[in-house]
Amino acid sequence: MIDVDEQVRLARGLISTASRIVAFSGAGISTESGLADFRSQGGLWERYRIVTFQEFIASHASRVEYWSMRRELIPGLIAAQPNPAHHALAKLEEAGKLRCVITQNIDGLHQSAGSKRVIELHGTNMSASCLDCGRQWPIAEIQQRLEAGELDPHCTACHGLVKPDTVSFGQAMPVEAMEQAYRATADCDLFLMIGSSLEVQPANQFPMVAHQGGAHLIFINRTATAFDHLATVSFSESAGRILSSLTE
Ligand SMILES: [Zn+2]
Repeated sequence: MIDVDEQVRLARGLISTASRIVAFSGAGISTESGLADFRSQGGLWERYRIVTFQEFIASHASRVEYWSMRRELIPGLIAAQPNPAHHALAKLEEAGKLRCVITQNIDGLHQSAGSKRVIELHGTNMSASCLDCGRQWPIAEIQQRLEAGELDPHCTACHGLVKPDTVSFGQAMPVEAMEQAYRATADCDLFLMIGSSLEVQPANQFPMVAHQGGAHLIFINRTATAFDHLATVSFSESAGRILSSLTE
């Protein structure tokens, strides 16, 4: 068992020799920004059930239920700031070492930190669109409408349904984003996984794709995953602290 300092040294060596790094992030990277992992969080997600895409489309009552939860969720997302882990990844991209960030998160914090190439597998909660005409609004504008008393906001142009640009349960994954993510992962020389338990589809595909492409893998996650045996180095520490020390 090697100690953390030795792991940091090893991981730094992998980063310094890599030129096509792909980062993969899950909810764990944003907990240090004050956003709880919704799967493990109490409170909000316990008081509301999940409204599927089909229910959202089909009924006004489901949309009212959906938006009343969002109305509580959105202010925290708007206020959240990127933490040192997000900044470290943006720095790696700026240095020309990191190709892209693939994220399961919908909080927009990679972009806030300055990351340019971000592939959002589950979409984003920072904007909402009309499902009919495609018109898009910043989520803050929709939040204002909710706070002004709207329960089921519709498009101001065509009266179509408005929904956050997230991938809801029951909604298809974005095909183009998935393909980009697989291509980048298959071609990377270092796969940097931060804050995902790698339990759900499609997250659990990526470590194997990277490994089969010959990449080294570095994992930074609070808990063990089913793919730790593929990683050259794995840390169960704070992502912000570890990533900062790896990239300074
Ligand atoms: Zn519309």
